Amino acid sequence: MPRQFDAARLIVASHNPGKITEIADLICPLGISVVGAAGLGLVPPDETGTTFAANAQIKSMFAATSINEPALADDSGLVVEALDGEPGIYSARWAGPQCDFLGAMHRVQRELLSRKAIVPERRRAHFVSALALGWPDGHCEVYEGIVRGHIVWPPRGNEGFGYDPIFRPSGYSLTFGEMKPSDKKKISHRTIAFSKLLDACFSANA
Ligand code: IMP
Repeated sequence: MPRQFDAARLIVASHNPGKITEIADLICPLGISVVGAAGLGLVPPDETGTTFAANAQIKSMFAATSINEPALADDSGLVVEALDGEPGIYSARWAGPQCDFLGAMHRVQRELLSRKAIVPERRRAHFVSALALGWPDGHCEVYEGIVRGHIVWPPRGNEGFGYDPIFRPSGYSLTFGEMKPSDKKKISHRTIAFSKLLDACFSANA
């Protein structure tokens, strides 16, 4: 039985204002306030895990034990099958400190071409989002969402962020970069992970 969240506020272990707003939109209607970790002076821990789930857990447990309250963290990225899962947990790091995602997308394409991955069957990829809700006593609930698709080239669309312009979800003709944000949100890996987390740990608040 998943542990239920029953506090009045939720610490979000992220320094990304976009992510905090997205989480607040989902959590605030349940009567729970959302506080970002940066506002509490928390410095992010090193992401030393080898999976999305492990890194989400490291971030949430670090915040929960530092502040002595339950804390939520997420970790996400793009997994390209023909690149043995890369960039995966290194998705943000491939863009470097300058957040150069155009450069990171070119690297994906370069490495796919170097492996002769040209036909769609060789260009399969998926986005993963792992959400971890940790408590100060060490208990942690982790839920994952996945959306499958293909890598296209050249990049298409100016919506979204990160690798969105080169990812076309299965069953759709548009890339995430071409989709309206509201349409991406209906099918995204983050939405799937959130819906699992809300069902499991926030059902008492609904
Ligand atoms: P995180 O902040 O460590 O979880 O970094 C995740 C990285 O994965 C982001 O910087 C993006 O590069 C990539 N990523 C995750 N989700 C998406 C998405 O929905 N679209 C595009 N890129 C994404």
